[in-house]
Amino acid sequence: MIIHLSRHVDRAQAEALGVKLSAIVADYGNGIVLITPSAMKEVPAEFSSLVEKSFPFSDDIQLASRKYIDGTREVRIGDLVIGGNSKNTMMIAGPCSVESEEQIESAAQLCVKLGIGVLRAGAFKPRTSPYTFQGMGVEGLKLLAKMRDKYGLKIISEVRDSTHLNYVIEYADIIQIGAKSMYDHGILRGCGAVRKPVLLKRGFGTTLQEFVQSAEFILSGGNDQVMLCERGIRTFETKTRFTLDLCGAAWLKQYTNLPVFLDPSHAMGYAYGVPDLTRACMAMGVEGLIIETHPNPAVAKSDASQQLDYPTFEKLYASLKAMAPAIDRQLI
Ligand code: PEP
Ligand code: MN
Repeated sequence: MIIHLSRHVDRAQAEALGVKLSAIVADYGNGIVLITPSAMKEVPAEFSSLVEKSFPFSDDIQLASRKYIDGTREVRIGDLVIGGNSKNTMMIAGPCSVESEEQIESAAQLCVKLGIGVLRAGAFKPRTSPYTFQGMGVEGLKLLAKMRDKYGLKIISEVRDSTHLNYVIEYADIIQIGAKSMYDHGILRGCGAVRKPVLLKRGFGTTLQEFVQSAEFILSGGNDQVMLCERGIRTFETKTRFTLDLCGAAWLKQYTNLPVFLDPSHAMGYAYGVPDLTRACMAMGVEGLIIETHPNPAVAKSDASQQLDYPTFEKLYASLKAMAPAIDRQLI
């Protein structure tokens, strides 16, 4: 149950009540909120004078539920807005990994040329093998920050584990939590404690319920700037890297209040299918798309097979721009 406390309740009273109700106390800056286990269906009568409003739930998807906020939460990345009353679909583009200044600068210049506001690239890569490129680490984040300063772009980069969370918080405008880290409670709680937008990717072996409950860890920490990203789940199919769960995206739009992103690059795993799949994603009317593009995919140090070369990306982007009005959206 989500409980909005009355204005006259101070932090100490809220904490005391939180202990009595086994509730998390969250402060979003406009009033204190308690979140109890969803098993609680009514506020005990003795505390009713402290409560302004309460919202019961049938399961532990609470803060992310449309039954709590009937609409999509607004998320602001600087001056870029998604969700809320906007009809914006945000494109995030860039290589899988930062590899060199020259490489990331070329991606930054592509974004500027096309009017794309957010540049992606991993600096701490959660690779499947320890013998492959693991990312440039903090040096990579510094290169991304340099691109922000030089080109006025926003930066998104992923956290691999909580040991370097503070670096990503310091350098990135959006913190990306990768599919393999969706259950890392150190990262989730750390992201709940900051006031920066977070893009949470769905683990490839997790249900929608588990995915959204991971988001609840961040939301209940007091950070309401959370975006969900479906990036493909593992099924019996092996011809493509993963299976993009577009049905799941429809479910997330219907039942949660968080902006939804789709990542066709990691789902498909092969560049040949990414443009068509991205248009299918655009047609879903989601808040964002995240696409990998590289100046020379053949020599990319990670995810070489799925990254689009620039001419292919530019052609795709033009087709998405043309599609947007037909589905009453604006590509930003
Ligand atoms: C990535 O975005 O480069 C990445 C590793 O994605 P995922 O966590 O979805 O595999
Ligand atoms: Mn990648």
